[in-house]
Amino acid sequence: MSQDKLAIDGGPKTKTKPFGTGKRFGLDEAKELLEALEQNTLFYHFGQKVKTFLGNFNELYGVNYSVATTSGTASIHVALGAAGVTVGDEVITSPITDQGTLIGILYQNAIPVFADLDPHTYNMDPQSIEARITPRTKAILVVHLAGNPADMDAIMAVARRHNVKVIEDCAQSYLTKYKGRLAGTIGDYGCFSTNDFKHISTGDGGIVTVNSGDEQDYLTTHAFADKNFKRFGDTVQKELHYVAPNYRMTELQGAVGIAQLKKLPWICAQRRKFGDRISEGIAGLPGIASHKVEEGNEGTYWFYMLRVDESQLTCTRNEFSKALAAEGIPNGAGYIPAVMYMQPLFQKRQAYLGSHFPFDLTGITYEEGLCPNAEAILQTAIRLTVNEFHTDQDVEETIRAIRKVANHFAKVPAV
Ligand SMILES: *Cc1c(COP(=O)(O)O)cnc(C)c1O
Repeated sequence: MSQDKLAIDGGPKTKTKPFGTGKRFGLDEAKELLEALEQNTLFYHFGQKVKTFLGNFNELYGVNYSVATTSGTASIHVALGAAGVTVGDEVITSPITDQGTLIGILYQNAIPVFADLDPHTYNMDPQSIEARITPRTKAILVVHLAGNPADMDAIMAVARRHNVKVIEDCAQSYLTKYKGRLAGTIGDYGCFSTNDFKHISTGDGGIVTVNSGDEQDYLTTHAFADKNFKRFGDTVQKELHYVAPNYRMTELQGAVGIAQLKKLPWICAQRRKFGDRISEGIAGLPGIASHKVEEGNEGTYWFYMLRVDESQLTCTRNEFSKALAAEGIPNGAGYIPAVMYMQPLFQKRQAYLGSHFPFDLTGITYEEGLCPNAEAILQTAIRLTVNEFHTDQDVEETIRAIRKVANHFAKVPAV
């Protein structure tokens, strides 16, 4: 059928109309920004915008305490610092993530240890985490990748058995639910990013939730993001007890954050609908495995990542990716270039230029094959953009294009 001739071979393109787009920022942000300027201060402690932003975030998330920061990377560093992660400690985390997950670990002179992933949720496998625990393990840094919650019950059970802290990296996972509970409220700390590529943007910025509900933990976390100053009410406690960076959010970011937060439920609902619909639309296709969200969980898809099984197809992953792009569906072959431990930083064991510290404290090395599932995921994944401004037609055409390409290359056609 000519209808089935791939666009890459000169057939008709599946997607004809451009993807839906929209404006992320508008008059609401402008009004908040103007109010921030009219305060005559942009300092979080003197103004109201960061305080209101956090108050609204706490309400949305049902938490008592959170701290605003300059980035997701900063939020994770703050959580690690507040959790007492220090020189020579090991922190177990995911090899498929943004480097922002790892930077704070190394700034605390602690050592990243990588656990393998579930082949279809792309999240850390609790059994692999437990196998990596040593007497040096201080924390588990769980990455909820792409808006999909990790298996928190099992991870919390491992953490309790070994008495280690749990920090959740929710930079890609706003309003993501694990068995009805919000990701970021289950471990000891939840870390969010408001950089310009995340569900909501303040240009750059971040939030850390303090989930123990303990005021002292909150004060420590707060101080860690503000040069160890403790500013509450009219009193400022300036005694320095340990090294803490300046990761303060400004009133300008807080102002934009207030307006962005109001849009967050809609953004997440749209993304959830589109991601789940793609999974439904490509279910059962030969050689295609969908982005798995476990039963009872709610994903908010920062992106959608399917996997191709080359043994069931007559094409390679890269050929599949190119054919899909030719159908008018932009996509990426894989996600990050390689698992994090294959980066030169880990291969050369060089956190600091000209030094092997802190890696030489334990003699740890990072070899290919350490996390076979994670490596296989990156070799066989196709990543699709999910965006709240896409239309139902965009999603249906995306599904049609994937079905067309998969059926074309299937060794055994779908029934
Ligand atoms: C974006 C991101 C970070 C870092 O956030 P920044 O605001 O860019 O510092 C950390 N972890 C993950 C999983 C991310 O996607």
